[in-house]
Amino acid sequence: MRNYRVSLRQGSQQVKVKWFLILICDILMTGYTLGWTYHYSNTTMDWATARQWCNTTYTDLVAIQNQNEISYLNKTLPRKKDYYWIGIRKINGTWTWIGTNEKIAEKDGHWAEKEPNNKLHEDCVEIYIKRDEDEGKWNDENCGKQKHPLCFKAHCNATTCSNAGECTETINNYTCKCAPGFKGPHCQDAVQCERPVIPQYGWMDCNGPHGNHSYMSTCKFHCAEGFSLQGQPERNCNASGEWTGSTPVCKGVDCKGPSEPKDGYVNCSGSSTTSSLACEFSCSKGFLLLGPKKVTCNPAGLWTGKSPFCASFMYVAAAFAGTTILSTSCFLFFCLMHCRKRKKTVQKRLPEEDRPQPDEEPEDVSNCMEEENWEEV
Ligand code: CA
Repeated sequence: MRNYRVSLRQGSQQVKVKWFLILICDILMTGYTLGWTYHYSNTTMDWATARQWCNTTYTDLVAIQNQNEISYLNKTLPRKKDYYWIGIRKINGTWTWIGTNEKIAEKDGHWAEKEPNNKLHEDCVEIYIKRDEDEGKWNDENCGKQKHPLCFKAHCNATTCSNAGECTETINNYTCKCAPGFKGPHCQDAVQCERPVIPQYGWMDCNGPHGNHSYMSTCKFHCAEGFSLQGQPERNCNASGEWTGSTPVCKGVDCKGPSEPKDGYVNCSGSSTTSSLACEFSCSKGFLLLGPKKVTCNPAGLWTGKSPFCASFMYVAAAFAGTTILSTSCFLFFCLMHCRKRKKTVQKRLPEEDRPQPDEEPEDVSNCMEEENWEEV
């Protein structure tokens, strides 16, 4: 198997389109075969040239890692008397897979009997395909020998798993191991978070590279005017599909007071957090409440009315009586003045002989008022 580790993706939509196109191309090129495929040349060449040929046309010389792979090659490849070069080379005295730099033990079970023997400066490796003895085994050979290149073509690349996972490839197959926060056969889908709760008296705005409520999305919370945010102002959608932190609260501004009225009581209940803070007033026995009976705290932190006060019934009665007397007196005075004015106006319009003489008794004011039609006034 061969692994290709890739970085996290940037922009899921573009990757999805890319992946789809790549899939179509692969199907067309490989005859509906996905995964690792093998190729060889009928021309023989030295090891270095063989590798270059593989690099140019395919991916590299084969890197065999299990017995199933060897069995597959031995079964499907034709027998060549010169056999095939594979992707193992002695580097600094150690047998190494050239594609992965992975070290190979001298006692690896894939070697043919009594190999590697380094008989003629043998720093490269061939594989015996369909050989009568040591079928499918490895032999160290001089790198200048002429053999057939045995190449592989990898299907996995940076976009196979949508840039969001590790592509693991086997013969004609591959799988994607998705990075945290991604899912799907090709890691093409970001993990979703449920839409977070919006705080009462507030709102939120969310966005992210894979959607508003997906892995790596951020939601920012705000409160209406008059409310202050308590809690974390941001929540992030994590790889497990959960939001970090908890829902913040929009707390209303507290109203100050109100003070208890003299000779009375105040009873407050509710909370400014839910905009239900209210105070009710009452007075002691013998006192009358003057002003609003109830006030509430609005979002701006102000009471809906001024605090009332408590007045004794005697005080109220005296005030009422005084007000009544004063009003009645003013009314009578106004009537008298109005009556006199009308009298003088009438006398001026009478003939000289009908006007009252100075020594005559002045007419009773009450008569004046009786003559008036007060309903019309
Ligand atoms: Ca040998």
